[in-house]
Amino acid sequence: MARIEIDNLTKVYDSGDESIVAVEDLDLEVEDGEFLVLVGPSGCGKSTTLRCIAGLEDVTEGSLRFGERDVTALRGSERDVAMVFQNYALYPHMTVRENIGFGLKLSTKLTAAEISERVESVASMLGITDLLEDKPKELSGGQQQRVALGRAIVREPAVFLMDEPLSNLDAKLRAEMRTELQELQQDLDVTTVYVTHDQTEAMAMGDRVAVMNDGVLQQVGPPEGIYRQPVNEFVANFIGSPSINMLTAEIDGDSLTGPAGFSYRLSDTTSVKGHSRVRVGVRPEDITITDDGPNSATVSVVEPMGNENFCYMELGDHELTARIDPDLRPRAGETVRFTFDEEALYLFDADSGAALKTKSDAVAPGIETEVSS
Ligand code: ADP
Repeated sequence: MARIEIDNLTKVYDSGDESIVAVEDLDLEVEDGEFLVLVGPSGCGKSTTLRCIAGLEDVTEGSLRFGERDVTALRGSERDVAMVFQNYALYPHMTVRENIGFGLKLSTKLTAAEISERVESVASMLGITDLLEDKPKELSGGQQQRVALGRAIVREPAVFLMDEPLSNLDAKLRAEMRTELQELQQDLDVTTVYVTHDQTEAMAMGDRVAVMNDGVLQQVGPPEGIYRQPVNEFVANFIGSPSINMLTAEIDGDSLTGPAGFSYRLSDTTSVKGHSRVRVGVRPEDITITDDGPNSATVSVVEPMGNENFCYMELGDHELTARIDPDLRPRAGETVRFTFDEEALYLFDADSGAALKTKSDAVAPGIETEVSS
């Protein structure tokens, strides 16, 4: 086990006459035994970060430590990490038993009996004991992924690195494997960095979530902290499903005035002092449809989810989404009135996107504000 410390990591790829800054000046610490999820849109530098931690890429600048060891100059094989990829890359001609034990045979001095014991114990942990003599092609996607995990676990590494390991599985299996993987990680207590582009997966799995955009770390914190107190508009938009509703509003004294007649009276104007325009954000669950609401919008579609309805509405050119009571089912084309509490309002600087006010101004414990650009 190990704590991971990443200091000022920059990775630049030179391809021909072009330089691509894949990761820029990243500072990040992962605690011993922690499950940290790196999340962000495609191309934001997640895999590159993971590959640098793994030693599959040299860093351009910066340093990496695992516990007391500076591993920056070490090859991947010397770092004591195990990786699990989206592509399981099992050896097709080997049985499950051979696939799981192969790395140990190559890289350790364990005897055949010791390897066998470790393989069987891991197989039992993953519920694949019955499959030990099967070949990969006889297995389902979920079973193959378990074997790939087994191959990583059996090595008892200091660090697990996982790059979208569940994205080849169908939705139901993915949700099941998420839970299993979390339980497994808690039992094993191995420091884990997990990469995904899926914010739902990040929120569900991470002890902490690190959000990246364009090679730059935006924010690190526990899922609920990132959700309630995003440092900027990018994080607010990226985290949460359906996404936060955003619109631009002018400020006149204590009034916010937006598109299509939108207006909102602030009781506390501290956060908007010195601003004439802001970006206004409200989460779908914070919008209430009520006859005495101060604003109105036109319903375009209502999607029943069973336990709630998603109500999509038009406010001028803006689409708004509200998560509403399942018994409430306004018709398409109907004009409805809505409201939301000031406590639930997010406000962002119209130019930089930096947060001026978040859902609760009391900072959640453990939340860290990183670079926001
Ligand atoms: P993510 O995992 O978030 O999708 P990546 O880390 O794979 O993002 O990529 C970050 C950026 O670096 C992208 O612009 C990508 O095109 C570029 N990149 C990644 N690998 C290489 C490479 N081997 N050579 C050149 N550019 C690369």
